[in-house]
Amino acid sequence: MDHDDLRHWSRRAADWAHAYHAGLRDRPVRAPLNPGTIAAQLPVCAPEAPEPMDAIFADFERIVPAGMTHWQHPRFFAYFPANAAPASMLAEQLANAIAAQGMLWQTSPAATEMEQVMIGWLRDALGLPGQFTGTIHDSATTATLSAVLTMRERALDWAGVRDGLSGQPRLRLYASAETHSSVDKAARIAGIGQDNLVKVETGADNALVPQALAAAITADRAAGMLPAGVILCAGGTSIGAFDRIGDSIAVAKAAGLPVHVDAAWAGSAMICPEFRFLWQGVEGADSIVFNPHKWLGAQFDCAVQFLADPGPQIRTLGLRPSYLATPGAEEITNFNEWTVPLGRRFRALKLWFLLRAYGLEGLRSRIRNHVAWAAAAADALAVLPGVEIVTPPALSLFTFALTAGDAATEALLARINDDGRIYLTPTRVRGRSVIRVQVGQFDCTAEDVAVIARVVADLLPGA
Ligand code: PLP
Repeated sequence: MDHDDLRHWSRRAADWAHAYHAGLRDRPVRAPLNPGTIAAQLPVCAPEAPEPMDAIFADFERIVPAGMTHWQHPRFFAYFPANAAPASMLAEQLANAIAAQGMLWQTSPAATEMEQVMIGWLRDALGLPGQFTGTIHDSATTATLSAVLTMRERALDWAGVRDGLSGQPRLRLYASAETHSSVDKAARIAGIGQDNLVKVETGADNALVPQALAAAITADRAAGMLPAGVILCAGGTSIGAFDRIGDSIAVAKAAGLPVHVDAAWAGSAMICPEFRFLWQGVEGADSIVFNPHKWLGAQFDCAVQFLADPGPQIRTLGLRPSYLATPGAEEITNFNEWTVPLGRRFRALKLWFLLRAYGLEGLRSRIRNHVAWAAAAADALAVLPGVEIVTPPALSLFTFALTAGDAATEALLARINDDGRIYLTPTRVRGRSVIRVQVGQFDCTAEDVAVIARVVADLLPGA
């Protein structure tokens, strides 16, 4: 296959993509497959001889779509969305065509400079103050890991990157149990250890209790341990919990600790000024992550980390061997020094296309609709017999269960997902099995969201 063939097949792929998206509502949202079904259709060895592209493409059409859970299905209400607005998909096609690697300014000046400008656009769009700069990672997990590594090194005065962790004091991190498991992963990978991630008590509002945070830090210091930082949750994955950001940051700052805020999902909603009360005080954070690839519409992957001062993170992660030098431009921004991997994709392009093609007002109205439609879906479920709303909508996320108990709730969820019209996922709330609903798919309509209550009503025990 050469570039002339690529042009032909790109057109075929564009036509295929158009038909795929137009027909999504006719497909089951979750792949209705048993494990091994797809692997069984693939040869066990790579071919020795080249194969014609029409055979490869035909196999793709035959095997792959039926083996996918359709994240762009308008009735995908599981997990959080991984949206891909059409304008962002177009930008990804162009970035793929150029196929650059943006590790240094010099290796792709447009990628670096557009990333800097997009960080500014998004900072202003979210109402964050002008001192925040930032960078784009692949995922919130990597951004949180970068923040935690930086917390570790600040606490150790950069002895960790120099000497390693052996013989260092026992480091401590603080977060509530509502924060995402990426925080646990960061504690593990950073060599701090799961047991040194203190899960601070939460109150009836599911927010970390600031006084309990203060007490935990004081107790750890008295025991000779070294507190390194606090991770706060702005829109937790399970039920959308929000910590009291300003109050918790005040406690952390009084104790001299840096703060990272995980707003991976809910950050997108902060383009709407009326939701910003939910993370009131966030301007005091050292680091904030949000994923435009979740709710905003930028195709996966795209995780933005805002930094009040990038210096400590660059000092932690940045290396400049001679083979990566840019002679004569030593002061230039090389974003690989801000992040864990060296190589970087041109992710800013899809933000540029997205923000221009829909405008902030277009993106705001989508998010406002999702929040309103989620509230309507919760109301419609609440009046069904034996259904209880367990956690009310936090933005566009709520949970429900059957009053008959866990086994009945879990069986209902299995029936819902086997039915295929919608896709929902489970979680636990105070030990109880519940069903999560989040509304956020880019193309979903009020009618798609109304299907949730209809499906549940059809599938209730005895219906
Ligand atoms: N933080 C929160 C609140 C999340 O919901 C998620 C994923 O859903 C993550 C972090 C991890 O995101 P990523 O897949 O970008 O690593």
